[in-house]
Amino acid sequence: MSEKKLDPRIQAIKTQHTFCMIKPDGVKRGLVGEIIRRIETAGLKVVALKMMTADEEQIRKHYPMSDQAWVDRLGDKGLGTFEEYDLDPVEFLGTSDRSQIGRQVAETLVGYMTSGPVVCMVIEGVQAIDMIRKLAGHTLPFKAEMGTIRGDFSVDSPGVANVEGRAIHNLFHASENPVEAANEVALWFSEADKQKYFRIDETLMYSKHY
Ligand code: UDP
Ligand code: MG
Repeated sequence: MSEKKLDPRIQAIKTQHTFCMIKPDGVKRGLVGEIIRRIETAGLKVVALKMMTADEEQIRKHYPMSDQAWVDRLGDKGLGTFEEYDLDPVEFLGTSDRSQIGRQVAETLVGYMTSGPVVCMVIEGVQAIDMIRKLAGHTLPFKAEMGTIRGDFSVDSPGVANVEGRAIHNLFHASENPVEAANEVALWFSEADKQKYFRIDETLMYSKHY
């Protein structure tokens, strides 16, 4: 039976690409296999994969550190925890300004992300961007649900990390939206790195074959 050709917009949803990365703490804790297992058993397809040690320049390109809105949002994530725990950010971080805190966190990220090898991947699948974010769990490990990568395997909070002048160790990175995904895939991989193949179970998972 010939398959009806899908509308290109629907095909794009089915084969959406996203970027994700096992951070240095995930590699050093021996979680590479476990994390990839979770991605694959969720029905998503690894289409590019490499282990490397990133340098500072690459990390400064990866995180949009010149985007003030991104830096402010980074600051806000930490600040929320300080409010929740009734801690004064001025006392512990020297400021309560979201931009300044965001800038401090961004700088700690460079050291963290270059501290050892990372495993970078391009993942393909139905709404892969949201799927991988869901598998990752909340940025802040103490808020990440059990059953997620960050929730099951990490324990950290800005309340301690930011005060200690280090980034939150949360094992895993995942693109948040289509713009971030496109930029990150293009930053870490070339077109030729991306492979095409059929998974034996994909017709059953997301096509009209029973
Ligand atoms: N981060 C941190 N302190 C904070 C907020 C974030 O060290 O208060 C780190 C953490 O490792 C996070 C990364 O900065 O994964 C990027 O932050 P983002 O808000 O983009 O979260 P993600 O997209 O990784 O969930
Ligand atoms: Mg992010």
